[in-house]
Amino acid sequence: MAGKIEQPRIDLFSDTKSRPREAMLQAMMRAETGDEQAGEDTTTLALCEKVCELLGKEAALFLPSGTMCNQIALAVHCRPGDEIIAERTSHIINFETGGAAVLARAMIHPIDGERGQFTVDQARRALRPEMRHMPNSRMIAVEQTANMGGGGVWPLEMLHGLSALTLENGMVMHMDGARLINAVVASGISAKDYGAAVDTLWIDLSKGLGCPVGAVLAGSEEFIAEAWKWKQRLGGAMRQSGILAAAGIYALENNVLRMAEDHANAKLFAKSISNISGVSVDVSSVETNIVIFSVENTELSAPQIAEQLLTYGIRVGMINADQIRAVTHLDVDRAGVEEAAYTMSRIVQNI
Ligand SMILES: *Cc1c(COP(=O)(O)O)cnc(C)c1O
Repeated sequence: MAGKIEQPRIDLFSDTKSRPREAMLQAMMRAETGDEQAGEDTTTLALCEKVCELLGKEAALFLPSGTMCNQIALAVHCRPGDEIIAERTSHIINFETGGAAVLARAMIHPIDGERGQFTVDQARRALRPEMRHMPNSRMIAVEQTANMGGGGVWPLEMLHGLSALTLENGMVMHMDGARLINAVVASGISAKDYGAAVDTLWIDLSKGLGCPVGAVLAGSEEFIAEAWKWKQRLGGAMRQSGILAAAGIYALENNVLRMAEDHANAKLFAKSISNISGVSVDVSSVETNIVIFSVENTELSAPQIAEQLLTYGIRVGMINADQIRAVTHLDVDRAGVEEAAYTMSRIVQNI
């Protein structure tokens, strides 16, 4: 038997670390359920309908994770050998175990962007000409917000530009919306407006929305019909999933506007650590709940700082030997980020 795992008091490792609280758990316990695979789970159906409305799409599909949303979308859209244009730091390239090669059997054409974003010109240059020996450019994939880009929000006009490019070239556009709702809260632009710029997209329920499990993929009726086949094939079809979907409905009704607090806390954290000698962070670039900063010019490496923070019950994520990522969410309050910044300043200054 595993022993009890000590949870950090202030967990800035990721917005996946939040745990469901009483009101959400109550909603889950009260959920009406049925066999999801047979289309009989009314709560899951209600969640899908809610997400369709939110994103302005015809149909939606409840899935266990955002990774499965991406993988299914890639598999439905691409034929083996097709090429997907994406930014080099994107989740589909770095954190999905090479899934695009295994499931869609597609290639990914990486673009070196800025903070996880790339321009229409860069995408245009990545397009393959119609030639027998070249792969077929099939998809442009973007991340809203760009995770390794420090949670930057893609401007709507850039998305429209990319969308027009896909239309001109008979391609599709897919959005990894793991943190789309953060982008909505930060920009004031509706999820529907972002949704209109892409063919398919999904939102994660287990990041800033604070649910224990789940993501919802959306697109046309035709796309979702094919996505259902993949869901079934991968073993992602569920039974009384209403228990999980109820958390999603609760989160969409209660946890959206409060994300502004997470964004304010991330900015406060960035501002506080920017005063520490040797730490470099671009405070003005913090738009949502992610802060990526460099400790290269301190006496300590990122792993050393992370390890020392942990002894104070504070956890951050490491990107590499020099860079650290801190992510705010509903289980970290203002006092928590203040304490994290203060503790880091003491560690770095060795006092
Ligand atoms: C977390 C994340 C995913 C994967 O979501 P899971 O629900 O953890 O599988 C995909 N893309 C981005 C940008 C993410 O941050």
